[in-house]
Amino acid sequence: MEIFRTIAEYRDWRKALPSGRSVGFVPTMGALHAGHMRLASESRSADSDTVVSIFVNPLQFGPSEDFSRYPRPFEADAKLCSEAGVAAILAPEAADFYPADFSTYVEVAGLDKYLCGASRPGHFRGVTTVVLKLFHIVQPHRAWFGQKDIQQALILKKMVRDMSLDLDLRIVPTVREDSGLALSSRNVYLNPDEKTRATALSKALFTAKSAWEKGERSAAALTNGMRREIEASSPTRIDYIEAVSQASLAPIDTLDGPAVLALAVFYGKTRLIDNVLLG
Ligand code: AMP
Repeated sequence: MEIFRTIAEYRDWRKALPSGRSVGFVPTMGALHAGHMRLASESRSADSDTVVSIFVNPLQFGPSEDFSRYPRPFEADAKLCSEAGVAAILAPEAADFYPADFSTYVEVAGLDKYLCGASRPGHFRGVTTVVLKLFHIVQPHRAWFGQKDIQQALILKKMVRDMSLDLDLRIVPTVREDSGLALSSRNVYLNPDEKTRATALSKALFTAKSAWEKGERSAAALTNGMRREIEASSPTRIDYIEAVSQASLAPIDTLDGPAVLALAVFYGKTRLIDNVLLG
């Protein structure tokens, strides 16, 4: 497995790949877990060479967020990638990736108004900018993203379409612990008690999903039920619990088309997100 620390070294490798080979790309911020590795394994089964990027992107963190304490266990990450048959890791230094006078951004207007976009201003602009730049560098045929970050995946899908990028963006279902808790690099921040209480999130989502399967179409009925179940787990703060349209991510009153139930909830200082797709 190759490990590239500069864009130039990666580009030399990419240019030397025989033209018949296809490149699958899994962008990450590291602290890899079985969710990331599911993306890598899907990529491995579709493409001849899988590239994983590991880059904690300063552009997508707000001033009071966890950029400096975000976990960076590079050796363990490299071992997981190597065991998973990843061809190359691209782990650029921030100084190589963003020149000191970097000032070019890409923004997908509209979809970033809702859900996490409302409470994390500038976050998705940071995500789309880094991912577009990574796409240009990595030159993938396919790119793999998790449903766990559904708003991110749908915004990036729109960017690919709007900018006519020549690649296929795939979304992979969320990988969960046996308890139902969605795997996340941020779960390491949770103490054992918070981790147990946080299982209320997936339980509430799955209860609501089964109510929807039985015919409930009122967004208020579904989200109120979720709120009650989550409040019983004594969260530190509920950021949002919403039913939105899959196409626009705008809130809906009646679930008469493809929808997403999505939430962001704090336990202690840790903000967790999760969602289920309906239809
Ligand atoms: P991150 O390192 O958190 O930026 O995540 C990198 C990629 O892994 C994103 O496409 C995430 O949506 C995806 N991902 C994170 N957690 C999970 C999970 N539990 N299941 C599936 N994909 C995930």
